[in-house]
Amino acid sequence: MAAVAADVLIQRLSAIVGAGAVMAAPEARAQYAGDQWWYAIAAMGAGQPVSRPDVAVRPQTAEQVAQIVRLCNELRLPITPWGGGSGVQGAANADRGGLVIDLRGLDRVRSFDHKSLTCVVEAGKIVRDFEAELNADGLCFTHYPASTEWATIGGSIAARGSGVLSSKYGKIEDHVLNVEFVTPTGELVQTPAVPRHAVGPELTQLLIGSEGTLGIITAATIKLRTLPKKRAFLVVSFANLADGIEAGRQIMVTGLRPPVARLYDVHAASHSLSRAVDAPLSEPTFVLMFDGEYPALVDLEAAAARDICLAHGGKLLPERIGELWWERRYVFYYPPYAPELPSIWGTVDVVADFAHIEAVYHATTEAIRAVVPAHYNLSLNTHLSHWYEWGSMIYARMKIPIGPPDLAEAKALHDAVFRAGTEAAMKAGALMNDHHGVGIRLAPFMEAQYGAGMETLRRIKQAMDPNNILCPGKLGL
Ligand SMILES: Cc1cc2nc3c(=O)[nH]c(=O)nc-3n(C[C@H](O)[C@H](O)[C@H](O)COP(=O)(O)OP(=O)(O)OC[C@H]3O[C@@H](n4cnc5c(N)ncnc54)[C@H](O)[C@@H]3O)c2cc1C
Repeated sequence: MAAVAADVLIQRLSAIVGAGAVMAAPEARAQYAGDQWWYAIAAMGAGQPVSRPDVAVRPQTAEQVAQIVRLCNELRLPITPWGGGSGVQGAANADRGGLVIDLRGLDRVRSFDHKSLTCVVEAGKIVRDFEAELNADGLCFTHYPASTEWATIGGSIAARGSGVLSSKYGKIEDHVLNVEFVTPTGELVQTPAVPRHAVGPELTQLLIGSEGTLGIITAATIKLRTLPKKRAFLVVSFANLADGIEAGRQIMVTGLRPPVARLYDVHAASHSLSRAVDAPLSEPTFVLMFDGEYPALVDLEAAAARDICLAHGGKLLPERIGELWWERRYVFYYPPYAPELPSIWGTVDVVADFAHIEAVYHATTEAIRAVVPAHYNLSLNTHLSHWYEWGSMIYARMKIPIGPPDLAEAKALHDAVFRAGTEAAMKAGALMNDHHGVGIRLAPFMEAQYGAGMETLRRIKQAMDPNNILCPGKLGL
């Protein structure tokens, strides 16, 4: 904490946002004790929270955010932006104390442009609430993370998130036209109005994925879409994962665009997927969904994808499985499917091009299995989703039902899994993360991921944040 008396700090923050929107240390530490990173949850459970803010504040306007940042510069007080606290990499934890700035007070939709199908929405808006408001108007956001009920627009942008429809509609960076943000020194900036231009580097993209280190996003212009008139489902099993991957590759490189494309390996198909859709599944299984405004086009795309799958030895399963998957698409992430303490859990989600994807799958899953002693009964369920024209993401979800009772030992086991999986994936040609971000968990691997480019990132950080107050240490910066 900076050399300022707590009561003086609270007074000065209260002068900006009002006394009711400032929390002193005990309340702040209770409210913002940890995000959804396994270790943050385990540490909270052990009474040793990772996140230890000295004060928290909940502004209502972008101008208040700017004033708070200027005050923190004057006092050299670290700031951690907090969206929904749903991040799984530890990014939102105030591990160096200082101030947590909860953005959820900035939750207005400022304006609509019905002609361009865009709208300006504030950063603290919860994704689910935003979607519900749009749906009432026949529109949709098409960014559907499984954490939709917690995640904010700003947190999704800051963590470079992705949703279940990404294989057609893209990741969050494809939904955002521009952002309004407060710089680390307290100026309010609008990035260029559209992302496609030739007026220098794309400033918006610098903020996307910056995890709170380069600025605090206060609003964004978002691309909207009309609700689809039709959805068609296709569910196919394959004798082996390689055939499924090849079918997926052909679907994507030939220009078909399924919003949902989830290829479950045999472990994920027979465990989590099978349970969620009430169907016995014993082979790698591909769940695909096509949607759109024109039903005939949707059917045509689904038929073309079906032919590709059949040509690769796929066996058609009932479409009802796909419909059930869609209805229950979030259940995988909540009890009883989601693990709870004393388990250790987490997802190594990496991304690679088609030339490397199969090798990455084998290297990553084998490395994770090899590092966990047999008596811990590791379960590892992996799927490939978020497909691109050039590659795909691999989502290796691990769970150790009962970890060591000692927190430090449990963390060592957890870290060993992530080190083994991440290093093996990178060595086999992957990038170490697709859509969960870096946070504290992956920060130790940034140097290896970026090489000499890490120094460029450091210089950008130093130039923008000379007092190093925005999320110091995050992203390995
Ligand atoms: C059950 C579950 C399911 C999930 N499913 C998905 C999924 O399908 N897709 C996906 O992408 N992620 C998923 N996640 C991860 C998480 O929800 C995302 O990373 C989400 O984008 C985080 O948003 P948030 O608002 O909760 O951000 P937080 O967790 O609060 O913050 C994340 C990072 O962004 C920074 N930040 C937050 N708001 C701002 C802002 N306005 N300006 C600058 N920096 C900011 C924080 O400091 C932190 O560094 C899931 C998590 C859980 C627990």
